[in-house]
Amino acid sequence: MLIKRIILFSILCSLASLTWSAATLKNIRMAVQDKQVRLVLDLDTNINTRVFSLDNPNRLVIDLENTKLLNSYRHTLSTNKFIDKIRLGGESNKNLRVVVDLTRKAEFKYFIIPGSRTQNTRMVLDIDFNQSFSQPPVNKLSTVPLRDIKIVIDPGHGGKDPGAIGPNGTWESLVVLAVSRQLANQINKTSDMRAFLTRSDDSFVALRDRMEIAREQKADLFVSIHADALDNNTRVKGASIYILSNKGANDEASKRLAKRENENLGDISLSNKNDSLASVLMDLSQGVSIETSKEVGESILKELARVGTVRKKKVQQGSFLVLKSPDVPSLLIETTYISNPNEEKKLKDKKFQTRLAKAILQGIRNYFLVNPPEGTKLANNLKNGASILDYTVQRGDTLSEIAETYNVKITLLRSYNNISGSTIKVGQALRIPLYR
Ligand SMILES: [Zn+2]
Repeated sequence: MLIKRIILFSILCSLASLTWSAATLKNIRMAVQDKQVRLVLDLDTNINTRVFSLDNPNRLVIDLENTKLLNSYRHTLSTNKFIDKIRLGGESNKNLRVVVDLTRKAEFKYFIIPGSRTQNTRMVLDIDFNQSFSQPPVNKLSTVPLRDIKIVIDPGHGGKDPGAIGPNGTWESLVVLAVSRQLANQINKTSDMRAFLTRSDDSFVALRDRMEIAREQKADLFVSIHADALDNNTRVKGASIYILSNKGANDEASKRLAKRENENLGDISLSNKNDSLASVLMDLSQGVSIETSKEVGESILKELARVGTVRKKKVQQGSFLVLKSPDVPSLLIETTYISNPNEEKKLKDKKFQTRLAKAILQGIRNYFLVNPPEGTKLANNLKNGASILDYTVQRGDTLSEIAETYNVKITLLRSYNNISGSTIKVGQALRIPLYR
């Protein structure tokens, strides 16, 4: 048994050292009171987790995503009349699984208390053996595997089409590829979202193909990344976000931009008759996607405003061919103006690219935290309260302080609790979504 345990630990340790881990499980504590058992998992940071029960034999499974075991941890928990055994293992080479073998059926609930400078993050699992045995387990493992939210990222232009060229010769196609790759990396570091790039190198991809990729991938969102340019103007800077319009561009600037982005070096023109017909047919079913696209766009604009200038504070609409997927919410981000030499320099800077990517990810994530698509890991986590903290407003609390304490955006707190403005009352129950 001891040897087995040592082997398990060496496997876990070697797996953990191979992969990047965001969280470390430092300790597991157990307390028994009457017919209740409380397990506390001490962690060094917030985590995404999933807990479910299984029968034959009765057990609870705690999956800690992107978590490793502290090297010096020694598993010494004694068993009792409720808990048969607690086992540790790696579900895959980056997740940690804790299996709690129960002597009989039980109900459970769990919550996460975020850490502070002096306190660990704690995941608290309460197992209740008071319940009638005939009741089904609260949270059975779903038979349909939960999926990641899929984001297709489209670096504009590429290959023979350099896009806009900056005053110092920087190609739009190359800098937007760098930003897109950063964004994809950051998305893939989350435990519930996956990114797919329409191009991962400097190759040419036709506009229609980019859109088709989004549909084939059954993307939850399509984001095309660009850098804008103005002739004879080197001062204009800042980001804008565009979504498809049913009625065509809503101003001259959008028309000009759509014309340029659609050209894609003579790939497919909007004036082509067959294409126009196809567009009309597509437009018919685009209402819902457009509404979603607009909301995601607004969420990203808020985040982009924190990293730099936003040129157009509202989401713009235009006839962008690349956004014409009828069933995939799509948006086009002009990160800033490559025609401004200062912005051109920034666009080449890795730190600025990272900041842009972070802001875009946060904007996307804030949207999906409030609107998680059915069947996704995120929806399941939120439904099971895995990452939600129930909080009662105390005297002296302000919404902005609560947001800061729990590291959530105030806009998200508002939308999650249906609060407009900043007024909260003592004793008011708030649900706080927690995420890394
Ligand atoms: Zn472009």
